[in-house]
Amino acid sequence: MKKINKEVIILYCIITLFGFISLPDLQAQIRTTVLPDAGFEKRIEKAVNDIRLIDTHEHLRMESQVMANSNFDFTHLFQQYIKNDLISAGMSTSALDMVNGRVFPITDRWEIVKPFWYSMRTTAYGRVALIAANDLYGIPDINDDTYLELSKRINDSMKPGWYKHVLKDKAKIDVSIIDWGFKPNRGHVQFDKDFYVHVERYDDFIYVFSPSEIEKLGQEYGIETKTLDNYVLALEKAFQAGLEYEMVGVKSGLAYKRIIQYDDVSKEKAEEVFTKIFTRDRSLPKLSFESVKPLQDYMMHRVLELADKHDLPVQIHTGLQAGNGNLITNSKPTHLNNLFHQYPGVKFCVFHGSYPYGGELSVLAKNFPNVFIDMTWTQIISPYYSERYLHEWLETVPANKIMAFGGDYGTVEGVYAHSVMARRVVSKVLTEKVASGYITEAEAIDIANRILRENAMEIFKLDGH
Ligand SMILES: [Zn+2]
Repeated sequence: MKKINKEVIILYCIITLFGFISLPDLQAQIRTTVLPDAGFEKRIEKAVNDIRLIDTHEHLRMESQVMANSNFDFTHLFQQYIKNDLISAGMSTSALDMVNGRVFPITDRWEIVKPFWYSMRTTAYGRVALIAANDLYGIPDINDDTYLELSKRINDSMKPGWYKHVLKDKAKIDVSIIDWGFKPNRGHVQFDKDFYVHVERYDDFIYVFSPSEIEKLGQEYGIETKTLDNYVLALEKAFQAGLEYEMVGVKSGLAYKRIIQYDDVSKEKAEEVFTKIFTRDRSLPKLSFESVKPLQDYMMHRVLELADKHDLPVQIHTGLQAGNGNLITNSKPTHLNNLFHQYPGVKFCVFHGSYPYGGELSVLAKNFPNVFIDMTWTQIISPYYSERYLHEWLETVPANKIMAFGGDYGTVEGVYAHSVMARRVVSKVLTEKVASGYITEAEAIDIANRILRENAMEIFKLDGH
């Protein structure tokens, strides 16, 4: 008895000692404030849901362009990213074309896509279609019993005013930043300024291999681009056209085509490549990427100089590329490190939460005052990744440097569903942060307003929207 008592006492002492040493430490890592008043979860959710969003990135066509089509059906919700996951699930591109082609009867097309839809419907892209079907058309599932009625309701909805209903009333978006990749002189595209502003791409001035590409760009701006100086002049003219067309920033999507690492190349070296391009026999295949990279890198630096001069933010694609079979390592955000360092006056909006390089992005946005995190597309790649990294980014990166919504869609239905998922991610992360005592309820609501609205307003100078 005596021995047992002694062992119990020793064990008690160890537990007590362990508790004193470790428990306060564990709590201190996350609890930094007093715990919130009851009901905070609902209040945060309501505050997040009430925010009028600034949407940092879209590929939307204008309503009139969309309405010019007729005969919409369920495949309207199976566009864009969902196609990537249908192919990832094993569907052939020819079968996909057949389903979207609308030549064959709808019943046949449904039967073709059905097995692949059932395989991929649980991905976040699949969830987008289900949220849109439920919230916009009152159809809670897409299956054998509902696809015809869903098709009818989609077709019936396609009338003028639908965009306003979906974007303004349902998604509560004040303004969307459109990334069309157009040049004003390639056809004047009117868009409704109550809905949109735009960013411009100069990637075609960077990603060149042949004299004909360079000559064509020069011709568009009335400049004979036989010298590098003239080629840069053509870029400046294109940039000027973008300014006149009131672009609010510059976008680069070159991670789809090449590594996003851009050396600071001397003018002599760039001229060497330029001459090589123009003196090469035009009947030969185009030069390799390695051969032309110095010129491409040189041009990227010229674009950034122009953005710096005109105080325009630069949106850069990093991480996952849409589609199938892309090279992910081309898009690592750390490739951009030297640009962040060399252009402190340029605000770099690093896209897509750099999925799957969220940790790298965390370090970059923490280190560089001019690096901002943009979560466009991120919540519909993976809500869980978005939660995980938003948790981490709120601990590592100042809250004025995160933007948590960009629909990144070609359809308003996709934009709406993405907005729902983005609000849920933001609500959940902020609620968890408040529940753990890391931030107060008031801080959470302030962060929500910043990351869903105010930060984008400031960075893109959108006062008046
Ligand atoms: Zn995009």
